[in-house]
Amino acid sequence: MLKIAAFEVRKDEIKDFKKAAEKYNVELIFTGKPLSVETFDFAEGCGAVTSLGHSRIDRVILNLMRDAGIRFYCTRTVGYNHINLEYARELGIRICNVSYPPNGVAEYTVMLMLMSLRKYKQAMFRGNVNDYSLEGLEGRELRNMTVGVVGTGRIGRTVIEILQGFGCRILAYDAYPNGSVADMAKYVELDTLYDESDVITLHTPLLESTYHMINRESIAKMKDGVVLINCARGSLMDVSDVIDGIEKQKFGALGLDVIEHEDGIYHVNHTVDIISNRDMAYIRQFPHVTMTQHMAFYTEEAVRSMVYGAVKNLRDLNKTGSSAFELF
Ligand code: NAD
Repeated sequence: MLKIAAFEVRKDEIKDFKKAAEKYNVELIFTGKPLSVETFDFAEGCGAVTSLGHSRIDRVILNLMRDAGIRFYCTRTVGYNHINLEYARELGIRICNVSYPPNGVAEYTVMLMLMSLRKYKQAMFRGNVNDYSLEGLEGRELRNMTVGVVGTGRIGRTVIEILQGFGCRILAYDAYPNGSVADMAKYVELDTLYDESDVITLHTPLLESTYHMINRESIAKMKDGVVLINCARGSLMDVSDVIDGIEKQKFGALGLDVIEHEDGIYHVNHTVDIISNRDMAYIRQFPHVTMTQHMAFYTEEAVRSMVYGAVKNLRDLNKTGSSAFELF
């Protein structure tokens, strides 16, 4: 029977892990700690490992896996930029990710758009101290706007579907345009999207080609007062260039579920700690910047899919020698 070591297991995942282990007939051990050199011993004797994205699956960890006879790894995330895929392939370690319905992230994206357009952060903080004044809280309506969606894969496409109900004009950009999106949005060059959009939302993976795509040059191409939403990956944006833009009053608002160097900070209670990311601390204090702790994915439905998917993918690799979610 395949034995799986599950790292970074949150309390809310445990019941699904137990049910999935029973369903797919695997032995499972789990810990809340990330997979690292210090915690690797936990996986001794296992044939497969799963973790979330805070575990760096780098050369050192992959060498440890090879030496321990671990042949399969599955990240319980859609994104996989924390894994050195090339080196895993060299070592013959098989790598999978999971998939879950894109709706949760897409709905969250639209929520951040609406919160940004209606100055909800400021309204909420005022209400908390019994300040019910309206001054400065005038919002804007989506139906009068052009929304630019960068990346029209599963999530970007679903954002476009949801936006159909708002009556806004939708522009799209993707390195590989998708015919089924063309009915709902107009594909344009990236520069045109930057130039014409009132709201820009990012839905590309973090790749060499997308790293810091939001930078001084691209920000300069955007409209003054643009609303920028990022529910994809923090490193799509050069934070210091974004801060520069904020200080020059370029942005109408920002809705950021992710931020560069969030690892070790997000998903942990740091109430009594000093946050080690100065940019993050600085950027979040602006009244028109809404930041959340990388939680767009976090719905009951998605958690269940991530846990069941990881266990199934590892079982499939072991039992049948292949998985539809293998990342090569
Ligand atoms: P997907 O693979 O279905 O879609 C990604 C799209 O980006 C594809 O259409 C692809 O062609 C396009 N793309 C790739 N390179 C590009 C480039 N250089 N320029 C423009 N487009 C490019 O992925 P998805 O499921 O829609 O997820 C998108 C990203 O969202 C993930 O990679 C992940 O980083 C992020 N994500 C965040 C959360 C969260 O909780 N905040 C949750 C899930 C996913």
